[in-house]
Amino acid sequence: MNHFHYKDDDLYCEDVPLARIAEEVGTPAYVYSHATLSRHLRVFQDALAGLDALVCFSVKASSNLALLRLLFSGGAGADIVSGGELHRVLAAGCDPQKIVFSGVGKTAPEMRRALEAGILAFNVESEGELDLLSRVARELGRRAPTSIRVNPDVDPETHPYIATGLRESKFGIPASEARALYQKAAALPGIDVVGLDCHIGSQLTNTAPFRDAIEKLVTLVRDLERDGIELEHLDIGGGLGIPYGRDEEAPPPTPGEYGEAIKRALGPLASKRIICEPGRVIAGNAGVLLSTVLYRKRAQSKEFVVVDAAMNDLLRPALYEAFHPVWPLRRRGGERIRADVVGPVCETGDFLAREREISPLETGDRMAVGAAGAYGFSMASNYNSRPKPAEILVKGPRYAVVRHRESLADLTRGEAIPDFLGDAD
Ligand SMILES: *Cc1c(COP(=O)(O)O)cnc(C)c1O
Repeated sequence: MNHFHYKDDDLYCEDVPLARIAEEVGTPAYVYSHATLSRHLRVFQDALAGLDALVCFSVKASSNLALLRLLFSGGAGADIVSGGELHRVLAAGCDPQKIVFSGVGKTAPEMRRALEAGILAFNVESEGELDLLSRVARELGRRAPTSIRVNPDVDPETHPYIATGLRESKFGIPASEARALYQKAAALPGIDVVGLDCHIGSQLTNTAPFRDAIEKLVTLVRDLERDGIELEHLDIGGGLGIPYGRDEEAPPPTPGEYGEAIKRALGPLASKRIICEPGRVIAGNAGVLLSTVLYRKRAQSKEFVVVDAAMNDLLRPALYEAFHPVWPLRRRGGERIRADVVGPVCETGDFLAREREISPLETGDRMAVGAAGAYGFSMASNYNSRPKPAEILVKGPRYAVVRHRESLADLTRGEAIPDFLGDAD
């Protein structure tokens, strides 16, 4: 459920007509719903009721400070994958004891800053990383609270670019090597073994891969206990999918169904502390990307709607051929058209929707790309020297710009022309 809906023929976010925001802030712009974000977090937390669970929002999904503050106020922690995300979550007021640090390429300075902040756990993904983390912790006179990310080798049945738990993926340690690495970790002076971690992929539309992965973890936890290693928590990652509104799409499990499935799979380990790292399911349907139609164009038999948002603003269609719904901000009658909705970027892959049946859109009309709240702005770039769009948070009848549209000066900030190049003429 979300809070984007038509009132008569105008598309609203909560109580604010999106056309008003487009008028006042301009386009392209991301708009997020406060009510949707807080509801999604609450529903997810409720689905885990009965477990000693901590929901650590996956910051890479959507990392604006205002959104993070909203989620942290609702009790969420953070799953981070870089020193930059650590900086963000601390700036947004996250309790360090609710931060887990994932990712295959942590550097020594990133480890140092996370240790100094006092985070809950490092999710370590290789033996080399474990050695370095131990050394960095010793230099600081500390021990690093550590989980090892295990790759359970289950097929999440999702897009190959967002499948992370297959044997050939770069993530985690093969389950067959985990016991030996835990033995080593337990003996390292700078490591405090606290948990076991896995994350098998994103946009999962079935509970079976979660169940299979957790069952493998449960076996491993048992083996580790026999080896004398007691874990405080089990981190089961994120990955629950959302409906993107495609007709033929199978509806993903609800958070309630997901919660039931993981409780069953955890079995006797359900009394342990459980950490979840959801991203998309919290933020995906809580945001849209507003855009203005620049041109209608016909080439051969194909119809194009050229808009002012592009792949640099929302990469998912170009990167994963992802489907996003397209909604006019003002619905009007007339025959529907079949068109590609494309941006101004000089790439054939620059499309937001392809071969899509939509209501007629003319030059100057505004539209929204739906379900753009996760992996939308956070993947935005300046490709084609396009300033990044504004971000807006709506709460009831109010809205606030929570990130200003980048200026032309922002585009060249940090660049320099050295003296040895001389003058231009
Ligand atoms: C991306 C990621 C997540 C979040 O995935 P969603 O599909 O957005 O829920 C969680 N954990 C890790 C380690 C990730 O890389």
